[in-house]
Amino acid sequence: MYESSTIEISRNALQNNLRFIRKRLNQGVRLCSVVKGNAYGHGLLEFVGLAMECGVDYFGVHAADEAYLLKNNLKTCPDIFIMGAVEGEAVKWAILEGVEFSVFDFDRLEIAVLYGKELNMKAKIHIELETGMRRTGFAENEIDEVCRILDLNKEHLLLQGVFTHFAGAESQANQFRISAQILSFEAGYQKITNLGFQPVYKHSACSAALLNYPETQGNMVRVGILQYGFWPNKETHLRYTIDKNTNPELLKRIISWKTKVMSIKEVRKGSFIGYGTAYLAQKNMKIAIVPVGYSHGYSRSLSNVSNVLIRGKNAPVIGTVNVNSLTIDVSHMDEIVKGDEVVLIGKQKDKAITVKSFSEQTQVMNYELLSRLPINIPRVVVP
Ligand SMILES: *Cc1c(COP(=O)(O)O)cnc(C)c1O
Repeated sequence: MYESSTIEISRNALQNNLRFIRKRLNQGVRLCSVVKGNAYGHGLLEFVGLAMECGVDYFGVHAADEAYLLKNNLKTCPDIFIMGAVEGEAVKWAILEGVEFSVFDFDRLEIAVLYGKELNMKAKIHIELETGMRRTGFAENEIDEVCRILDLNKEHLLLQGVFTHFAGAESQANQFRISAQILSFEAGYQKITNLGFQPVYKHSACSAALLNYPETQGNMVRVGILQYGFWPNKETHLRYTIDKNTNPELLKRIISWKTKVMSIKEVRKGSFIGYGTAYLAQKNMKIAIVPVGYSHGYSRSLSNVSNVLIRGKNAPVIGTVNVNSLTIDVSHMDEIVKGDEVVLIGKQKDKAITVKSFSEQTQVMNYELLSRLPINIPRVVVP
């Protein structure tokens, strides 16, 4: 099969990032590796397989279908926590397979009890508390009722966790809101333990909270973006490196995205290149066509803006990004041939194209650019 591009994920870089994360964990805190959104575009199965080789044994997914993929494709199965969507029969499946899931309303609590009874098993549930994100979770005044139901159904519910999620721990501008969330979570958690329950895990920290509010670690953290070698945002990166007075390149990007030159052309001065009038050749030029476009996740807003690497040199994207192709100015490369490697993200010789450079140019944030990389681009593990 011909694949128009390939995504590589680096073992060394992941090991580096995991070391960085683990160093920041208090003793006894468990790492739950967040792999929603196809492992932030890195490839769910490939990333999880690699992370397991690096000693990670617990993964947080968004929905039941991702948990299902993991359960059915890995030789040894890690612990899995469905943080968001799981409904109906999928709840039954999760209980049967020992997959943990979040419970953020009474409907889901009821269905967990129902299937727990039917299977005569214990559903491993994480109770989510709503502390200010205004997304999902139980309000403080619902906790008594939640605990009443937990108490009535001790045989069929295992309280695996109590958790919440912060609404923007990456920005100091949200400090007031996050501090209120921390207090509200503590109060809710106390209420549950005062009623005699001892959850296995207490968790609230994502990547940004781990760095900016390390006191929120509880005994488990849910870390996504840091593992992949990205900072939650520029502010967190600056704050961290200034506070700690450390080397700013502590994290290593694990993803690279590569393709090949598909076609080369000479173009005369005064010609428009590509659709419409987006680019006018100001001189005689040589251009290369590359088989990746916005349908592959290469944003159209990078038209006339971004660069790629060919033969160890920067080469600008010219004209509009098409559905399936890009045009590159290679006038400065005498030696270029069809089939030459093109780096869209990653390193070649001593040059690099960072994901950060994309987000600076287009306002598309790391998280979005990565998780939009299509599922059908092959992912391969490299050293
Ligand atoms: C995405 C997500 C995380 C991880 O966030 P990062 O910023 O990538 O670390 C943690 N918890 C929940 C509930 C999430 O949805």
